Amino acid sequence: MNLSELTIKKARELLDSKQLSAIDLAKYYLKNIEEKNKDLNVYLEVFSDVIKQAEDAQKIINKGEAKELTGIPLAIKDNILIKGRKVSAASKILENYTATYDATVIKKLKEEGAVFLGRTNMDEFAMGGSTENSAFGVTKNPYDLERVAGGSSGGSAVAVAADIAMASLGSDTGGSVREPASFCGVLGLKPTYGSVSRYGLMAMGSSLDVIGPIAKTISDTEIIFNAIKGVDKMDSTSIEMESRILNPESRTIGVPYHLMNQEGISLDVKKNFEESVEKLKNLGFEIINISLPNIDKSLAVYYIIMPAEVSSNMARYDGVKYGLREDGDPSTPLGAGNLLDVYKKTRGKGFGKEVRRRIILGTYVLSTGYYDAYYGKALQVRRIIKDEFAQAFKKVDAILTPTTPSPAFKIGEKSDPLEMYLADIFTVTANIVGCPAISLPSGFAEIDGKKLPLGIQLTVPHMDEDILFNIGKKFLNE
Ligand code: GLN
Repeated sequence: MNLSELTIKKARELLDSKQLSAIDLAKYYLKNIEEKNKDLNVYLEVFSDVIKQAEDAQKIINKGEAKELTGIPLAIKDNILIKGRKVSAASKILENYTATYDATVIKKLKEEGAVFLGRTNMDEFAMGGSTENSAFGVTKNPYDLERVAGGSSGGSAVAVAADIAMASLGSDTGGSVREPASFCGVLGLKPTYGSVSRYGLMAMGSSLDVIGPIAKTISDTEIIFNAIKGVDKMDSTSIEMESRILNPESRTIGVPYHLMNQEGISLDVKKNFEESVEKLKNLGFEIINISLPNIDKSLAVYYIIMPAEVSSNMARYDGVKYGLREDGDPSTPLGAGNLLDVYKKTRGKGFGKEVRRRIILGTYVLSTGYYDAYYGKALQVRRIIKDEFAQAFKKVDAILTPTTPSPAFKIGEKSDPLEMYLADIFTVTANIVGCPAISLPSGFAEIDGKKLPLGIQLTVPHMDEDILFNIGKKFLNE
């Protein structure tokens, strides 16, 4: 049996009909991890009790009580808490930190009987788009080891793409599930803001963050999303998804063509995007040219609101409450216990460059005298962009763009932070407006003799994930 082609759906059939055991399935992934993890740097830790978890799942299967994810091996991004296990957000400041409770998504997956293989590499505290900001080394793209996997959920995307997990969880604040999924040729869903509880997800930008699945097929994406979504009393921003009657006529797709003429979009992406539009037309979708006049301000809005929230969320890592602690200077009046010194030393040593940059940026945009000019203004523009989306969705069922302006870039290629931020141009908008969006694999670009995956992104109104799944199934011929 060729397990590399297994999806969650297919594995479920095999597990339930006893053609495959949860233990053999877990062993298959452990063997692949053993072979590939050294080169790819996907897992920061492979859990030592994977077989034990699989045995527990098998008992449930044997009793005939299996749920959709019982015995399914998953990889979890290193910013989602699993009780009793280490969780570091790929940061030195939390290097030896152990979670004291389960994130709500983990609780739900445990109730399903899923098997957790390990925790995956990421940009430190999810700040980045290439996994190069991890304190524990970069994750490599399986299509070309000289290129990035994308980020910040780079480990989670490569885990699925390189067949060292059946599916995974990532988190998406400005594209961190969709961008690496696109770079690695897999699917990544950023659900509606609030549809998945953030309890136990280390906060980055609290008004933007959402946990989402990375998988090989739409059906698998849907299965995980259904397992993790739902209102949660531990997250006051969580919402119950209204059951909506899907418009069977959901056949109109809006394309903001004006976005495609921006600088910095690679020819490969443009060509692939045109082909994808043609494919959708041939599938019977009506493609409408739409205008989102202020969408070009999304990136600026994001890079003000996000660091503002980052600067506040990072304040908790002070050397007192969690993780790393550096003593103060013994020669100061209060000696090594000088609190300010402890803060400075701990944060200076524990945080990487990009995290420090964002804390400084965020503190600046929130400071007296600049608050109105930056943070206040960004909130106003956020509102305008939201309104423009609401208007657009009166005319179309979904909005289509590429996921990224280029295929995966080379490791070390983008040394200027601004250049790196530009890679988020298509993805940040969905977080700004809170809408669900998905990245679907749409083909390949051939660069330096290597095939590099490309992706398209669909965005739909709040709580209309079903439209994403519906269009996605047609596009991917599922
Ligand atoms: N690349 C974006 C950033 O650097 C998105 C990060 C994310 O979604 N966590 O902020």
